[in-house]
Amino acid sequence: MSNSNVIIMGFIIGIIGTGAGGAITYLYRKPSNRFLSTIMGFAGGLMLSVVTFDLLPHAFEIGGLKIGMLGLIAGVLIVVFFEDILPEQGKRNNYLREGIIMGFAIAIHNFPEGLAVGSGFMSSSSLGISIALVIALHDIPEGVAMSTPLSIGGVTPFKNMIYAILAGIPTGIGTAAGVYMGEVSPFFISLNLAIAGGAMLYVTCGEMIPEARDLYRGRISVLGMIVGIISGIIITEVV
Ligand SMILES: [Zn+2]
Repeated sequence: MSNSNVIIMGFIIGIIGTGAGGAITYLYRKPSNRFLSTIMGFAGGLMLSVVTFDLLPHAFEIGGLKIGMLGLIAGVLIVVFFEDILPEQGKRNNYLREGIIMGFAIAIHNFPEGLAVGSGFMSSSSLGISIALVIALHDIPEGVAMSTPLSIGGVTPFKNMIYAILAGIPTGIGTAAGVYMGEVSPFFISLNLAIAGGAMLYVTCGEMIPEARDLYRGRISVLGMIVGIISGIIITEVV
């Protein structure tokens, strides 16, 4: 795939994935916590599995363990830094505020995810395609996660979809950064894959999985997570 096609695909993945999540508010103004918990668990498992079995091994393979570890730790620290900048989660009844903060958080962390897509394609098209697929899938529950509080707070489904699409745009910008830096040298492919991997691990372990458990106390989010992990392994093996 040509570089410009990869970049266009990065934009499409972010816009369609997150946007589709926002558009769900057309169907359900307020999806049940049980449903949200299940898809959030699934998305978390899917990310965990592809980062661990596909993305990070490629980073280590290309750049060696040292560069890989350096990138991974940098990726975690970058997300922690942005997490500290974002204002505290709003009070429980302040849904608009909660939705806006969630939207910003998703928009910011979409950049390293795009970086993973761009660097993945620079490594091999099979890695690029599996990462792209997983990012697009896991963007849907993220779109739902930002849209639900906004929807409860009175935002119309159309506006919700537009906001979700805007939050998806950094994925494309990240993809372009991954492609252009990957052109410079394989060192950057490895480093960027590892940075993206570290960022994705933090978001998954620190936000998606705990959020899935908080939303609904039953077994269903764990089962969703395991199905996500298995799906990630299948995508890694097949694509
Ligand atoms: Zn994400």
